[in-house]
Amino acid sequence: MKRSIKSKLTFVISLIVLLAVVTIILLTNYFINKRFTQYITRQQELKIQSINSSISGQYNTNNQEWNVEYIQTIGMQSLYEGYIIKVYDNHNNVLWDAQAHDMSLCNRIMEDISERMEITYPQLEGEFQASTYPLKNSGKDIGRVEISYFGPFFLNENDTKFLDSLNTILISVGIIAIASAIVVGSILAKRLSRPILETIGAAKQIADGNYEIRLKGRANTEELDMLIGSINHLAYSLQSMDKLRKQLTEDVAHELRTPITVLQSHMEAMIAGIWEPSTERLQSCYEEITRIGTLVNDLENLSRVENGVLQLDKSEICFNDLLNKAVQTFEKELQSKNIKVVITGPSVKINADQDRITQVIVNLLSNAMKYSEPNKTITMEVFEEDMHAGFAIRDQGIGIPEEDLPYIFERFYRADKSRNRLTGGSGIGLAIVKSIVNAHGGSIKVESKVNEGSCFTIRFPK
Ligand code: ADP
Repeated sequence: MKRSIKSKLTFVISLIVLLAVVTIILLTNYFINKRFTQYITRQQELKIQSINSSISGQYNTNNQEWNVEYIQTIGMQSLYEGYIIKVYDNHNNVLWDAQAHDMSLCNRIMEDISERMEITYPQLEGEFQASTYPLKNSGKDIGRVEISYFGPFFLNENDTKFLDSLNTILISVGIIAIASAIVVGSILAKRLSRPILETIGAAKQIADGNYEIRLKGRANTEELDMLIGSINHLAYSLQSMDKLRKQLTEDVAHELRTPITVLQSHMEAMIAGIWEPSTERLQSCYEEITRIGTLVNDLENLSRVENGVLQLDKSEICFNDLLNKAVQTFEKELQSKNIKVVITGPSVKINADQDRITQVIVNLLSNAMKYSEPNKTITMEVFEEDMHAGFAIRDQGIGIPEEDLPYIFERFYRADKSRNRLTGGSGIGLAIVKSIVNAHGGSIKVESKVNEGSCFTIRFPK
């Protein structure tokens, strides 16, 4: 049967307290009893000495006679305290005998004591035993006294009452402790289980698609706070992913709509015979189709890189070689805009995926070119540090406004929307660059000033 955390905790806490209380009661009882019986035994020895000296005191040395009346008083008093005495003078005559005086009283007292001891100490197996002690006066024998009592020791009524009340106190303390443990335990268990139950509730809501939910409370328990933190983080991640997914669909639809609308209207006009299908018009349709093709390609690349489907095929690559090759690819465009490219720095080799790094360089170089006016210079600098190696691509182009800098690596983000329609960018290039750099464990940094130029620096671990 499954039980709740609350009932389990309450049960465990109460069980621990119960065990502790029972142990304490048993140990206390054992030690108190031991001490108490030692004390009682000592008291009995003193009592016998006191009976002996009281009786000796009843001997008159002048006329050598006993005060029998007083002996009887002492005898009766002792009898009520559980000591049955018989007094002899030194001629062996019985001066006083408790049993002869009141047999039934003696028997009743003996029975009382035996019964009480049988109940309190069942294992003791004690019995009435008689011992004889000499009576002396100034060192001279004047008789003897035979004292019989329940041995090895016995408790009188007061002693039993004392032990009983001690036990009552111990048991009451035990009951109070256990009751408090149940109350405190269940409060503690409730405090522990509440955040867990809240977390379960939140997890269910997240599973149902409510990603906005956040757990606010602090449990003041390290593990529970970690759990709450993880659930909040999970909700946040799912929320961002959901947002990104929706955003992506919206963006793709938006990006496709413009070229498709243009194509559609051009085609309609040509089919309806309103427009001549001239080379320029067909060329414009072709450009729109190319735009769609580029967008689809970019999206495919991005999804491959972001989904991690694309395994990095690492080999030793040389940045300088890859930079040179990329410049060659763009030779025509660079010449037509009269843009000069300078490559500086040492020849540095690292282990990386050649095709992907080429893609990074191509994307950055094409941006630098796209966003530069004619007759400017693009500088590509390779560098090597203790733990890192990389390259920086600097242009003298239009720059990026400061408020756009944090977003340019996001998919479909374009610093200047109207401008970018002309340059043909889809806003995916830098997102691909960032994903590839991240996949290599590297980092990318951008510095830019409007109308002065931009510099993208990429670092890879060596
Ligand atoms: P796009 O295909 O639009 O160039 P990117 O992801 O490559 O998309 O770049 C995102 C945006 O960052 C661009 O639209 C542009 O506004 C800005 N940008 C990127 N590189 C540069 C650069 N070298 N100079 C100026 N702006 C740049």
